[in-house]
Amino acid sequence: MIGKGALRKRIITSLCMLAILCCVVISSIVSNAESDEYLIVGVPTDRCPMFYFDEDAGIITGIGADLMTAAAKEAGYIAVFRVLEEKNLKDALDNPGYDVIMPFGSAITSSSGNPSVVSDNLIQTPFTLVTVNQSNLPDMHELRVGMLSSLGGAAETVRQLYPGIEITLYDSMPECVDALRAGKVDALLHNSYVWSYVLQKPTYDDLKVQPAAMFTMDFRVGALDTEKGREIIERLNTGIDTLSDTQKQAVVLDHTSRKLYKYDLEDYIHEYGLFILVGILILVIFNIIVIMKQKALHAKHEETVKQLVDRDPLTGVLSMNGFRKRVVELLTQHPDIPYMISYNNIRDFKYINDNLGKEAGDELLKFWASKSLEVMSDEEAIGRIEGDHFVVLRSIGGSEKMNADEAQVFDLVRNYFIDRGKEVRVQMCSGVYVVMQEDYKNPDVDHMLDCARVAEKKVRDTVKDGYQFYNPSQWEKGKWISDVVGHLRVAIRKSELQVWYQPQVDFETGEVTGAEALCRWNHTKLGWIPPSEFIPALEDAGSIYELDCYVWERVCQDLHRWNEQGIHRSVSVNVSRCDIHDNKDIVAYFCDLLRKYELTADQLKIEITETAYVQDSEILISITKGLRKFGFQVEMDDFGSGYSSLNMLKEVPVDRIKMDLRFLTGDGCGEKGRIIIECMIYMANRLGIKLIAEGVETIEQAQMLKELGCPEMQGYYFYKPLSVDEFEKI
Ligand code: C2E
Ligand code: MG
Ligand code: MG
Repeated sequence: MIGKGALRKRIITSLCMLAILCCVVISSIVSNAESDEYLIVGVPTDRCPMFYFDEDAGIITGIGADLMTAAAKEAGYIAVFRVLEEKNLKDALDNPGYDVIMPFGSAITSSSGNPSVVSDNLIQTPFTLVTVNQSNLPDMHELRVGMLSSLGGAAETVRQLYPGIEITLYDSMPECVDALRAGKVDALLHNSYVWSYVLQKPTYDDLKVQPAAMFTMDFRVGALDTEKGREIIERLNTGIDTLSDTQKQAVVLDHTSRKLYKYDLEDYIHEYGLFILVGILILVIFNIIVIMKQKALHAKHEETVKQLVDRDPLTGVLSMNGFRKRVVELLTQHPDIPYMISYNNIRDFKYINDNLGKEAGDELLKFWASKSLEVMSDEEAIGRIEGDHFVVLRSIGGSEKMNADEAQVFDLVRNYFIDRGKEVRVQMCSGVYVVMQEDYKNPDVDHMLDCARVAEKKVRDTVKDGYQFYNPSQWEKGKWISDVVGHLRVAIRKSELQVWYQPQVDFETGEVTGAEALCRWNHTKLGWIPPSEFIPALEDAGSIYELDCYVWERVCQDLHRWNEQGIHRSVSVNVSRCDIHDNKDIVAYFCDLLRKYELTADQLKIEITETAYVQDSEILISITKGLRKFGFQVEMDDFGSGYSSLNMLKEVPVDRIKMDLRFLTGDGCGEKGRIIIECMIYMANRLGIKLIAEGVETIEQAQMLKELGCPEMQGYYFYKPLSVDEFEKI
């Protein structure tokens, strides 16, 4: 048994021993911390595997770093590595932020001129020359070598070893390599361990190691030659002494065998460029295909929606909405086509549905739509706007087309059930609105349909079956235009069109000096039509060029014939403003005609009306110049009849003005008219432009013109336009 006193004694003794133990542990920790000093070591990190930054571990490491850590530890230091901020060791020596710097081959002087001290050699490092496929290197003493500026210390050692060697320092390895490739240096010099790493870079595969030119260099720690510097170096030397060769080899092996070159972006591009390119291409193509497919899908979807909105699902023709849009489109695109809009309705369609069934009614509507579509062109439109109400935009083709429609569409619909053995005759009411000139400019489809519907209602209220026009006079006009315009080609072929000549005379001598070619049309259906009617209609329809080409050709044929008969005549032909728009190279066209019919340019005079010069002045001035260049005489027709400005004469380079006397007809034209004519003649004379008066109807007019100095004349007083036969007789 232990007594109470003895127990207390034991506890106190144990506590004292625990306290002593704690003191020993704490003091040992404290003394340890005090004995290991931190040593700031400045090193480069662009030199794998000697010094580099291990991104995974977040520390500076490498052969040099590991050897230094080991030596420092033996010397009682904890080495703390800092990346050298300076470009070279000489500058770095002057930075008090580092205790020591690495690596040194030998002692060097700092940039500010202070000497340095270096430690014992940590390891003997091999240095190797690298070239671009160059095997016959000059002697080391004559070599031009490139090195990194951070190897400035080593460079100095090399200079001492090989006097005469020319060393250029570059800031980075790529710069070194560029200089080597450009032939600025014969070789690059660097630590072999570093080469073993750097040369793994794929883009450096043209660089070759020169094993014959290898030498070793010391690898030392350096500091400024100060008391502190010397002390550190001395202390470090004790640590360096303890490092065994095996230890050093292990460090080298560790970093050279484990540290594989890490590819950067450039390497990946160099190595896998083709794959990357193909990959990108595939990706781009894939994206394009996807986008196109999406677009096509979207377009298809839109088309479907449009179809649903714009099409009538039963018959496949347009819906009201679609019809409205299409009509606006067509009228805007084809202002030259005369159109009509019809509103068509089946009488008592409800009776058909009730008695023959809804399906029969639907079949009838589909039949009507399909028969209509068969006779229609792309420039026409048909829509079903409700039940049995069809609306149609059709170009006016005269009575013949109307009759054809009756036979090919309406009669077939009327007899639809009869032809299928049922005693039901379909009756149809149609109202027609002829599209007016103003409708083309601003198409109001609803208004036009309303008008057509009014006409349709009249049919419904008065007769059982048939059609009526809302605006019959317009229809007559449209029919006339269609008979003229639509018939032009046939008319040319059937020689309904003739060229007549109106002689031009010199009133002083009485001589015929020329003639104007004027077109005459003896229409099979309409009889003789005056040019004042068919020329504007053809101009509106865009067909005048066809007529004019025919006229010009005929005139040239006549001139050629007369030439062969030994009569050299000259004829003025009319050129419409529209011709110039239809053939941009009208000058070449006339030149070709001369060549084809062996004529001279003075035989074909070109008349261009004054209004054309006002409306298209720029282009006409250039054409006039072009024509005159080839010797044609250009005449300004109808001068004084339009809204020309006298100023225009200044710019338009015409040879002759045709003064229109008809502008003087009417009341109060006596004396004032004479004054105007006098002034015009005076002005033309002063401008050096020739003059001819047209529309001379009386001897008084002729006398006056002669007195005022304009002897050239054309008009009924002398000759009316004559057929070729008559003209040849004079
Ligand atoms: P324009 O070129 O000024 O032709 C002269 C017009 O005046 C002709 O009318 C002619 O018959 C008429 N005329 C001649 N002397 C007199 C007269 O003393 N008094 C009156 N009141 N009239 C006279 P036409 O042949 O009816 O031609 C009318 C217009 O049609 C021409 O005017 C011309 O601009 C155009 N034209 C005629 N043929 C052609 C053609 O082949 N091509 C083109 N583009 N236009 C033509
Ligand atoms: Mg004329
Ligand atoms: Mg004229």
